[in-house]
Amino acid sequence: MIMDRACAGGGESSGMEQLAGVLARITGPEHVITDPLELRTYECDGLTSHRSIPALVVLPGSAEETAAIVKACVAARTPFVARGSGTGLSGGALPHPSGVLIVMSRMRNVLEIDALSRRAIVEPGVTNLNVSNAVKELGLFYAPDPSSQVICSVGGNVAENSGGAHCLKYGFTVHHVTGLEIVTPSGEITWLGDGTGVPAGYDLLGAFTGSEGTLGIVTKIAVKLTPIPQTVHTLLAAYTTTAEGGKAVSDIIAAGITPAAIEMMDALAIEAAETAVRCGYPENAGAVLIVELDGPASEVEAELATVREIAQRAGATEIRAADDPAQRAVIWAGRKSAFAAVGRISPSFIVQDGVVPRTALGDVLARIDQLSDEHGVRVANVFHAGDGNLHPLVLYDDASAAETEAAEILSGAILDACIERGGSITGEHGVGVDKSRYMPKMFTDEDLDTMQLVRCAFDPESLCNPGKVFPTPRLCGEVPGARRKPLPAGAEIFLWI
Ligand SMILES: Cc1cc2nc3c(=O)[nH]c(=O)nc-3n(C[C@H](O)[C@H](O)[C@H](O)COP(=O)(O)OP(=O)(O)OC[C@H]3O[C@@H](n4cnc5c(N)ncnc54)[C@H](O)[C@@H]3O)c2cc1C
Repeated sequence: MIMDRACAGGGESSGMEQLAGVLARITGPEHVITDPLELRTYECDGLTSHRSIPALVVLPGSAEETAAIVKACVAARTPFVARGSGTGLSGGALPHPSGVLIVMSRMRNVLEIDALSRRAIVEPGVTNLNVSNAVKELGLFYAPDPSSQVICSVGGNVAENSGGAHCLKYGFTVHHVTGLEIVTPSGEITWLGDGTGVPAGYDLLGAFTGSEGTLGIVTKIAVKLTPIPQTVHTLLAAYTTTAEGGKAVSDIIAAGITPAAIEMMDALAIEAAETAVRCGYPENAGAVLIVELDGPASEVEAELATVREIAQRAGATEIRAADDPAQRAVIWAGRKSAFAAVGRISPSFIVQDGVVPRTALGDVLARIDQLSDEHGVRVANVFHAGDGNLHPLVLYDDASAAETEAAEILSGAILDACIERGGSITGEHGVGVDKSRYMPKMFTDEDLDTMQLVRCAFDPESLCNPGKVFPTPRLCGEVPGARRKPLPAGAEIFLWI
């Protein structure tokens, strides 16, 4: 713990001590953290270059407690930030230094499973993989599969609209969520979506999914479940260059095949994965392509033959096929460990996340190589090739200020290259605090103001995860501006639909 009853009692206490006392009465004092050393545990998410110690941490056990906590924060005019497992890579769960961090990890139950309707209702703190584990015996799984699925929370997945290797075929989190119970930024509990996934009227569920914790706190999630495919085949093809692998990707899609996943790793990423997990990828490969096909056995067999032929024609130096879970696990081990694995070959690294049209992949990878040479900074490339979603891993030593700066500049230049080719500054890791400065490169002031109006409709006080997503707070309560004004009465009704 955390916090004792005496501290919760008050007396000559500061505003934050008083708030701690109120929160302790809501959750029990053992779920409120005030000890400076323990607070440090929460100073960052997976993006460790941004750190900020919260004033208080509280771990609610129910939606009602979450709502009461939010109401207490609003009454005290104190910013609050939701946190799931803290694996985010854009600083979305970075605490506010004078605010309350609301950690959802105690709410980790799978509440209902309806196998017939293929639906489940889960709490936000349940880990992504545990949803699939809970329904495996019923022949079902939860399709969105971020590589962090062993640890990341479904609440965090909703906030980030997370993807994963298999989202090429199955879609992102937004395609698998049919309803959300949320606590609004003023502390009311309400549902968005009607459980069908195709609600009438404004798609508030769609607006909320991917809003990075800025529109409220998720307390229950209704998800779709997917039947486990009859057959899965995984194929690994080695190439001399990423350009050859990229050609195979385009040709496979052009042949009308939608694999469950198409992932690529370049030579440096392979070296890192090999060092970390000894995945035994073909030696001296300049790139490996992982293609997974799933579905009815006859369909998969036919597609496998076509994919093999295309992969060969694109210049594969070696092709391996795996059709049993153990062989597949070996192939995936290298890919799934790639982010962490680069820690074996570099003291520090930035996980970049950008998107380009699939057809521009080769072009952008060549540009990244060029930038890497120009800045003298190594870049390992791991990517969801089928989605055009790049994850360049920029390697540097944070003990050197010059290297750190060069890595930051290079990382930004990679995003410029993505935007120039009609892409985006993020595919699945969100904007958070890290990429807010790049938003004006993609959007005009008018675009950003319009997005802020949506945010203001949910959170007129700007207390809910402030300072994230937007480069300059221009509306609502954050900074007075030309358009700051109370919301029209109707705007609040909009919230409760
Ligand atoms: C090794 C590694 C691999 C990864 N691979 C992938 C990948 O393949 N695909 C992918 O998309 N991402 C990936 N990620 C990024 C990360 O795991 C995802 O963004 C994930 O969804 C974050 O979940 P979390 O529970 O850790 O959320 P946190 O990091 O705690 O929070 C993320 C955001 O969600 C908000 N939030 C959290 N809980 C709630 C809630 N209950 N209500 C409202 N807002 C909330 C926070 O305020 C914050 O803005 C990876 C990360 C790592 C470290």
